[in-house]
Amino acid sequence: MPISAELSNRLAGSLEEIVEHFGTPFHLYDEKGIRENGEALIRAFEEVESFREYFAVKALPNPTIMKIMQDLGFGFDCSSIAELLLSRQIGASGEQIMFTSNNTSAAEFAVAEADGGCVLNLDDISLIDKVPRMPELICFRYNPGERRSGNSIIGNPIEAKYGVAHDQLLEAYQKAMQRGARRFGLHTMLASNELNHAYMVETARMLLDRVVSLSEKLGIQFEFINIGGGLGIPYRPQEKPLDIVSMGREIADLFRSFKAHHGYAPKLFLESGRYITGPYGVLITRAINRKEIYRTYVGVDSCMSSLMRPGMYGAYHHISVLGKQGEQETVDVVGSLCENNDKFAVQRPLPAIQDGDILIIHDAGAHGHAMGFNYNGKTRPKELLLRSDGSVDLIRREETIDDIFTTLNFEPDRFIPG
Ligand SMILES: *Cc1c(COP(=O)(O)O)cnc(C)c1O
Repeated sequence: MPISAELSNRLAGSLEEIVEHFGTPFHLYDEKGIRENGEALIRAFEEVESFREYFAVKALPNPTIMKIMQDLGFGFDCSSIAELLLSRQIGASGEQIMFTSNNTSAAEFAVAEADGGCVLNLDDISLIDKVPRMPELICFRYNPGERRSGNSIIGNPIEAKYGVAHDQLLEAYQKAMQRGARRFGLHTMLASNELNHAYMVETARMLLDRVVSLSEKLGIQFEFINIGGGLGIPYRPQEKPLDIVSMGREIADLFRSFKAHHGYAPKLFLESGRYITGPYGVLITRAINRKEIYRTYVGVDSCMSSLMRPGMYGAYHHISVLGKQGEQETVDVVGSLCENNDKFAVQRPLPAIQDGDILIIHDAGAHGHAMGFNYNGKTRPKELLLRSDGSVDLIRREETIDDIFTTLNFEPDRFIPG
């Protein structure tokens, strides 16, 4: 969704000055929006006896942002060594961290186990024997296969590489129990950017059904279910936001009914990324070239290295132009990569843009900077945090060419086999 009118107003007053001070391009995140949204999420689930969000670190892996998540009482969902280390560096530990990796390596298991460990969420039955020391608490990621349909970003469950198949699930818990597991969770992640709250409610229902069936066969109780991330945000102006209030209420009903039948209810975990920060980040970039051939192209001073989603998924990101209104012309907004999919917008009606204009690319607060890369030797931009009091913190500097060259051996380091 285009950023809120309230943030838009706040930015209108100060963006020019911020641009002047820091220079473009940059990602800017809105602390006030992130906090208010996080509090609203907690309120939406307050009827569930025990609810916790584990922020999906990969969406916005910046320690200053993660500290806001900690203030909100959130844990962290990690899927790599870097994300584990980052979470621990800001003081999270043990069961405040969920490790949802896939195709997991021995090195990853070693870090997961170190420094107080974390909640291990195993992606496959074959990994049980590869866990160096089976923790007391273990979780499996469930892939329901043909029982559910996924969506375009994450794919159809039967084609997705993630999770333990339906028919393997019972054996997975049995094996984990044989290795010493005594406490249990069940996880799934089926959709990405899902705007239909009923889909998420269905996912909670599916997991609770699995819990009933597994509990009976194994004679165990489940401590939690984790319905994954994938909560959607409306990137297009006409899209309706996810109805988080109905989602919370309907899931709370499922938990109440579970408790009435079974005398207890598991905790509910969520590991949302996009929904938590996506709408509260913008990529600010300046128009530097205008080209008129078969189409009109507006060239800006950032590229796919700052925001991959349009190039990678054809994703829509709303764009506005600072100080300009209306839709006078239809243009492609492009970066400078030698890749024709390096476009922030394709055939988009926008105000007439001239060199020097400031473009605001909306909803870049999740899977934005984080997904960036260095192809063509392009550097990733800085990250700024607009504090609730109006001050602006630099929370990551921009990359430099030296950063990119730092792994190169200009003098090769030779090895001669034999
Ligand atoms: C990416 C991911 C998330 C977060 O997804 P969002 O779409 O940002 O909510 C959560 N859990 C797992 C396992 C993921 O891979």
